[in-house]
Amino acid sequence: MKFKFLGTGGAFDIDYGNSAALVEFKDQTILLDCGFTVYPTLRKHQLTRGITYILLTHLHNDHTGSLANILLHCYYFNTHCRPTILYPDDDFRDELYEFLRFQLQKPEQYVDFAPLSEVPGIIALDTFGLHAEKLQSYAFIFEEEDGDRVVYSGDLGQPDALFAYLRGMPPKATTIYHDITFSEENIAHTYYKKLIPLAQDYQIYGYHCDPLKNPTDNPLPLVFNQPELMLPARLQEAVN
Ligand SMILES: [Zn+2]
Ligand SMILES: [Zn+2]
Repeated sequence: MKFKFLGTGGAFDIDYGNSAALVEFKDQTILLDCGFTVYPTLRKHQLTRGITYILLTHLHNDHTGSLANILLHCYYFNTHCRPTILYPDDDFRDELYEFLRFQLQKPEQYVDFAPLSEVPGIIALDTFGLHAEKLQSYAFIFEEEDGDRVVYSGDLGQPDALFAYLRGMPPKATTIYHDITFSEENIAHTYYKKLIPLAQDYQIYGYHCDPLKNPTDNPLPLVFNQPELMLPARLQEAVN
């Protein structure tokens, strides 16, 4: 299993791109979230072609803003590339369909929908209302039979349920990519000081933030500072 982040910024940190990743999982490529900066990033790195599945944490624009562009691009330009959107439950599938219907009229022309259970090894943890009031959101847990466990928090202001769930799972080396805020007033995301004690049990990396605002007393590593988790710098340079 391999995560390559396409961006690690928060909704307004455009210099770092919307938080999203390409996940190599069981020989498939999963696009995990696709905010408004993701389509241009995929195009620049010529990565639109290999996407098998699309998985979304929630419908905020910094996580879905270029979904329609990506589907249209694959439909018109990438022969033999028709991504499938994986949905954790029927209600979220209906929300997604309606979201796309305004943009594509007939979403099924451009994309297939399949239940997440089609790809064994991915658990969706329902985090409804824990990021924004009355908003459906999910954290995802990826696990290969003989490999490590990797958690992607999505946007999550109250992480207690996620960690309670993880504590109930069989012990295993676990890497957690967790959204993080450096402002205690920001209740939509997890304040970094809440995560510090949890780093004893898990390898936690922060994302969905502006790395320039990282306080000096934050011991948690940021995804942004891990070259092996980011698109290769060589590719980024080639674009500029
Ligand atoms: Zn976000
Ligand atoms: Zn959000």
